[in-house]
Amino acid sequence: MIGLIAATAAGRQAAAQLAEALAADDCRLYEGPVGDAVRAAFAECTQLVCFLATGATVRLLAPLLSADGSDKHTDPGVVCVDEARRFAVALVGGHEGGANALAVRVAAALDAQAVVTTATDATDVPGLDTLGLPVAGDLAAVSRALLDGEPVRLVGADRFPLPALPANVSADAPADAPTIVVGDEAAAAAGVPTLRLFPPSLVVGVGASKGAPAEEILELVRTALADAGLDVRSLHGLSSVDAKADEPGLLAAAAELGVPVRFFTADELAAVAVPNPSDAPLAAVGTPSVAEAAALLGAGATELLVPKRKSAPEGRAAMATVAVARRPVRGRLAIVGLGPGARDLLTGRARTELRRASVIVGLDQYVDQIRDLLRPGVRIEATGLGAEEERARSAVRLAQQGLAVALIGSGDAGVYAMASPALAEAGADIDVVGVPGVTAAMAAASLLGAPLGHDHVSISLSDLHTPWEVIERRVRAAAEADLVVTFYNPRSRARDWQLPKALSILAEHRDAPATPVGIARSVSRPDEWHKVTTLAALDPTEVDMFTVVTVGNTASREVAGRFVTPRGYRWQG
Ligand code: SAH
Repeated sequence: MIGLIAATAAGRQAAAQLAEALAADDCRLYEGPVGDAVRAAFAECTQLVCFLATGATVRLLAPLLSADGSDKHTDPGVVCVDEARRFAVALVGGHEGGANALAVRVAAALDAQAVVTTATDATDVPGLDTLGLPVAGDLAAVSRALLDGEPVRLVGADRFPLPALPANVSADAPADAPTIVVGDEAAAAAGVPTLRLFPPSLVVGVGASKGAPAEEILELVRTALADAGLDVRSLHGLSSVDAKADEPGLLAAAAELGVPVRFFTADELAAVAVPNPSDAPLAAVGTPSVAEAAALLGAGATELLVPKRKSAPEGRAAMATVAVARRPVRGRLAIVGLGPGARDLLTGRARTELRRASVIVGLDQYVDQIRDLLRPGVRIEATGLGAEEERARSAVRLAQQGLAVALIGSGDAGVYAMASPALAEAGADIDVVGVPGVTAAMAAASLLGAPLGHDHVSISLSDLHTPWEVIERRVRAAAEADLVVTFYNPRSRARDWQLPKALSILAEHRDAPATPVGIARSVSRPDEWHKVTTLAALDPTEVDMFTVVTVGNTASREVAGRFVTPRGYRWQG
């Protein structure tokens, strides 16, 4: 039993929410004076969650704990949660009492952060229940073994792009070690705590006669999977022929299973080679196979796990057929913008994706920027400047191998950066997740004032990938269109004439002494520097490759030292 102790209204509310989330654990709320409540719960429960300050909890617990730790084996695990529910602190009984694992579960339930202070690097454990996969089995025991750094066996690691796991997790751990099974594989040896994860990989092709009852289809899907040792929790979806797009029993069966149905045309299905073609569907819908062809097409597979099976309703003809195929493992490529440099301009989502990955690909200086956020055991593929295309290709290749890859870049990874070369290479066989980052133009703008208050454009002055004529044409168009312009890659030692040239083109269409120009270097980094000047006064030698230069439109003005572009095309009276 888990005892919950709360002293305030907010605490009681959090306790009620936790009791609901941990319903399976038999929680009990202890009311009354907290001293009495803690003493009673300590005697009666295996674990306590105190919605109290750690100091208050320590005072109440101290007399109950043996001074020499001799009761470590019997003392309950105690977790404290602060009033604002930001932290779930494993206070005592971290290992033996299960407080570390409980803190992780409480944190998940209350959207708080678990604080685990027992010294082991294995505490940096990915939440296996937060991968978006159905889970079953003994999450608590396996999480606890993970946390305690005990050997944990991993079966089926190549069936899903898992995040980096701590060093105590391996395929070679003893068979009697707590086990994580990924996929349909039958559970580990009896008596071994096992956690099962079910990546959605199975596609069931369904052929249904007009009016086929949902129960008949459901029964057939379930038995076909069970007989083949497959788990319905691994179901990705159903598929069928588009002539059945409105077939009520099929739609109801999919709804009951909680998966979508994908429909293919008869022509698409007819083009698939199948083991068991037949004449009946050819006559009815124009393809010699529905179930088998739809399973193969839906899964993008070439082999069936279960060939066509017919339903067996009592006392009448079968109205449904199914066949099963498995989708190949889909790797995951996250393209993650790290922002301009400062840690607090790295988004929460970027942080989550960095910890979701098992491989990080990026320029070594960017890897250094976020190294402390990475999980122990993550593989790092850092490369030096220049090797851009190779970096993009290697990220895609790793994802194609079924891994969880994060390709990182500064600012926004899609702005003059890695997203395009990577996605130019990536096929439909991997999942891609983009995480926006604060790009240099935005970071600079907030430093300069409000330069981007009206229509604006970014132009890279690097003629490495783009011929200068093209760049010049775009600068001219921006000048004529009276756009605010931010120059990326404005100037380097080898490229020093492009910026003055671009500025002179803008000056043809602006009142140079009155047009504000912002220079912002190393924004949000320790050596950050910025200046608001004018198109006439700008000194190009103040500009380098760590700088962006933003030039105003004809309405932009300097106001109290800040660069402001009005929202309209002129200033309001
Ligand atoms: N993906 C990046 C841009 C890469 S191109 C982004 O979205 O910001 C590299 C150019 O970006 C640099 O030459 C410089 O012009 C600009 N830049 C990147 N980080 C910067 C920073 N912190 N401060 C100023 N300019 C920066």
